[in-house]
Amino acid sequence: MASIVLKNVTKRFGSVAAVDKLDLEIEDGSFTTLLGPSGCGKTTTLRMIAGLETPSNEGEIWIGDRCVYSASNGDYIPPAQRKLGLVFQSYALWPHLTVFDNIAFGLQIGKQAKAEIVRKVGHIAEILYIGDLLQRFPNELSGGQQQRVAIARVLVMEPAVLLLDEPLSNLDSKLRMDMRAELKRLHAETKSTIIYVTHDQLEALTMSTKVAVMNLGKLQQYEDPMSVYHFPANTFTADFIGNPKINFFQGVVTPARELPGKGVVVTAGELTVRIDDATMPPAAGHNPLPVKVGVRSEDFVVSASPGEGLVQGSVYSILPAGSQWYLKIRIGGEIVTATVYHDPELDIDDPVWVGVKPERVKCFDQSGELVCRV
Ligand code: ATP
Repeated sequence: MASIVLKNVTKRFGSVAAVDKLDLEIEDGSFTTLLGPSGCGKTTTLRMIAGLETPSNEGEIWIGDRCVYSASNGDYIPPAQRKLGLVFQSYALWPHLTVFDNIAFGLQIGKQAKAEIVRKVGHIAEILYIGDLLQRFPNELSGGQQQRVAIARVLVMEPAVLLLDEPLSNLDSKLRMDMRAELKRLHAETKSTIIYVTHDQLEALTMSTKVAVMNLGKLQQYEDPMSVYHFPANTFTADFIGNPKINFFQGVVTPARELPGKGVVVTAGELTVRIDDATMPPAAGHNPLPVKVGVRSEDFVVSASPGEGLVQGSVYSILPAGSQWYLKIRIGGEIVTATVYHDPELDIDDPVWVGVKPERVKCFDQSGELVCRV
């Protein structure tokens, strides 16, 4: 078992800072996801932890109590001695070895007993649904099967730290869902530290104990998945995480009048909502604060009849999705997306009344940072 610590780590490629002054403490036994759009520096971070990339003369990297890289005192431990398991998107299986031998390779080099090797390979192959493929050669497998062999080959070594770079990207959506569950189970069973790179926010939310959201080489937020979802640190995280995408409005936060010092009123486009539990951001004092307001689609209140705190809109479009319905609703000059979990029994252009759940309103200041965390 081992924790991983990056202190002020930077990696430049020419003028591009692929990773920019990254501080990250990955707890022993956690399942940490590096999440962000293409090019944000996820893979470069993973490669620096693995030792496949060297930081640009700054910072330190620690694995457990070993410093594996230090710019100031010249420490550098090569990849093979870092005792990590690596699975990358592009995996290289030995073409002349069967699936069994590909998976068993590391155990055989370690001179484990034959019966033990057969048991371990069989167990991991069952978990990854490749138990009936053990006698085939890689060129007789689909891309998804090859990818699972690559994962099995690493898992069978029971590494204390497992680095996975988009390992499920070649799998179809059903298998990907199954494999997420298997990896999560495996993590619970082995308690190994897993660092998992993905640009898929659903993958990050469903699998991780902690999510590190990155953009342009910088860490945006590092918290558990539910906090990242409900309390995004800034507009980037709010926008990147969630499907359908969060709705943004221009708005203003003002102190609520009834009880001085307690509660705020947020206007978001045409909508107004009072939040009793929130206080004005200290910097704003008692002055109205211009904000960008974020509302997730499931945080609207949608009604076919008028009600307190609701404003009238009209149905622009209805998208049924089995267990939920996505409603595009025109409110004033804007079209918002709301999710409801029962048949709204509405038609296009029907009037509809919309409000916002107060406890779910997210307000961001002009620089895009979250203010008024309820
Ligand atoms: P993806 O999801 O597309 O794999 P990523 O978030 O993993 O993206 P990185 O691969 O870490 O991003 O790349 C970060 C930035 O560094 C990008 O702008 C990329 O073009 C650049 N970069 C990465 N590797 C190199 C390299 N070897 N030479 C030059 N630039 C590089």
